[in-house]
Amino acid sequence: MEKLDGYIVDLKGMQSDTVSYHWQAATDFFSAVQGPEIKQGLLDVALRVKRTSCAYELTFQLKGEVEVTCDRCLEPMSQPIEAECLLRVKMGDEFADDGDVVTIPQREGTINVAWNIYEFAALQIPLRHVHATCEQLYSDSSEEERIDPRWAELKKAMNSKTVNSKS
Ligand SMILES: [Zn+2]
Repeated sequence: MEKLDGYIVDLKGMQSDTVSYHWQAATDFFSAVQGPEIKQGLLDVALRVKRTSCAYELTFQLKGEVEVTCDRCLEPMSQPIEAECLLRVKMGDEFADDGDVVTIPQREGTINVAWNIYEFAALQIPLRHVHATCEQLYSDSSEEERIDPRWAELKKAMNSKTVNSKS
């Protein structure tokens, strides 16, 4: 995780009520994070930290492109990312993450946001991601399905099975 030390945000040591950070998350970032969906990419990440009376509001702005796998042909495809995401952080006794608010130990007072950045980027990837050319092939095959309703039924059953096994 050493490679991601640059993503440590010091909240306890904040000298003013707002602090800004800026990173270029490139291939070395994605290989260090080792997330399942994104292996490479280039993301411009701006973070604005705002200290409030009881918490810290971390607003991330992500802009760039990541590489994902096309659902149809399994070849790499580029997915544009542009998003603004909010993370709320509180100080407490122990580390905790309840989804909306992350609690970090008071004695440390820092948070490494590398994984948060990764997750925010991964959340932007549509459930179904397909090359435009592969999308064309897909609509052609849907027409065939209309010709043979039995095939359509089978396909539907297979699709629902896939959805179930994913959840
Ligand atoms: Zn494709």
